[in-house]
Amino acid sequence: MNCRSCNSDKLVSVLDLGEQPWCNDFLSEDDVGNENLYPLHLKYCKDCELLQLNYTVPKEVMFGDHCYLSGVTKTLRQHFYEVAEENCAQFSISKNDLVVDIGGNDGTQLQQYQRCGVQNVVNVECAKRVSEISKQNGVPTHTDYFNKHFVENTFGEKSVKLFNASGVFFHLEELHSVIEGIKFALRDDGVLIVQFMYAGTMIEKLNFDTIYHEHLCYYTMRSLTNLLKQYDLEIFDAYYSEIHSGSIIAKITHSDGINNVKTDRFYELLFNDEKYNLESFLDFSKKIERTRFMLKELLTMLKSDGKKIYAYGAPAKGNTLLNYFQIDNTLVDKAVEINELKIGNYLPQSHIPITKEVDTDLPDYYLLLSHNFEEEILKRNQDIRDKGVKFIIPFPEIVIK
Ligand SMILES: [Zn+2]
Repeated sequence: MNCRSCNSDKLVSVLDLGEQPWCNDFLSEDDVGNENLYPLHLKYCKDCELLQLNYTVPKEVMFGDHCYLSGVTKTLRQHFYEVAEENCAQFSISKNDLVVDIGGNDGTQLQQYQRCGVQNVVNVECAKRVSEISKQNGVPTHTDYFNKHFVENTFGEKSVKLFNASGVFFHLEELHSVIEGIKFALRDDGVLIVQFMYAGTMIEKLNFDTIYHEHLCYYTMRSLTNLLKQYDLEIFDAYYSEIHSGSIIAKITHSDGINNVKTDRFYELLFNDEKYNLESFLDFSKKIERTRFMLKELLTMLKSDGKKIYAYGAPAKGNTLLNYFQIDNTLVDKAVEINELKIGNYLPQSHIPITKEVDTDLPDYYLLLSHNFEEEILKRNQDIRDKGVKFIIPFPEIVIK
């Protein structure tokens, strides 16, 4: 297939993770062993520099009924509040300005805009159960896929003051249709806030587990710029945040819009972005191979010493790590979770059962799969760590805490 952004055929292989199940396919007992496998292969476009997967699992499979809830973690809620507060001030958003969240999950981000006094918010979330929760949270919500057709039928031309897209811009199978929709409905003085996991950080921290089927694209500042340019949209402000192991919050507007005044921090990021090129991506791939070998060795050694190993958390991305490293239920007995929608199911391919996190059933070692919330999780578990439970952090170096 050709490049998702510029349609070039000059794609080169960066990291081939083999055939993997769709990582949000948490299995019921009956489904264990029946999961479908799809290619998971990261490629790089020599023309527009976009890192991307060259295979798309149909969006109806991936997003029809997923169970990731963004409101679950305190860190994320706080982050969303800070984003809303800053944008309301920076763009003088008033009470009746229309703010739309694309794939706004359980409404957590829009609730923060409501806290800042914005009344006119709309969430567009395709996952049925999640959009129900968003409605219960008091956020007006459409259960639908966001694309050009949907936008033209739902919002007026140039009617939206602020679009938010956090952690969704890489999901989009209909990427071009989505951007056309945004372009159509964005006011002249409007802004699009794109929050995306930064490919540069993925390289620095070796977070290759952010690579999974839902994440079709892995942006640098330059590759996102090259995509937006096709629609006369430009990043004018951007900053780095530690959220999701390293993200960029990019503020985008019409090329000829009044908000298109480049900030210093934007230029700084763009300058720093230069070093993330094909060479550094290939180097990243080599380092993953080394970690793969070492982590498997460590767990095998602990297991043969009679140690009990559980996974801490069952995030979707944990499956990329487990399955590529071939860590399964013979090494890890269970994964503990607080998300009720996942408890009682099994992880795809590794077939590790997911159970409720309880203090009465502790392992010797937790393999930390939700390592993007490392600090919060270690702090929350200080009492069991005092009792001798250790956490294995897989990236960027394998560390036991
Ligand atoms: Zn391209």
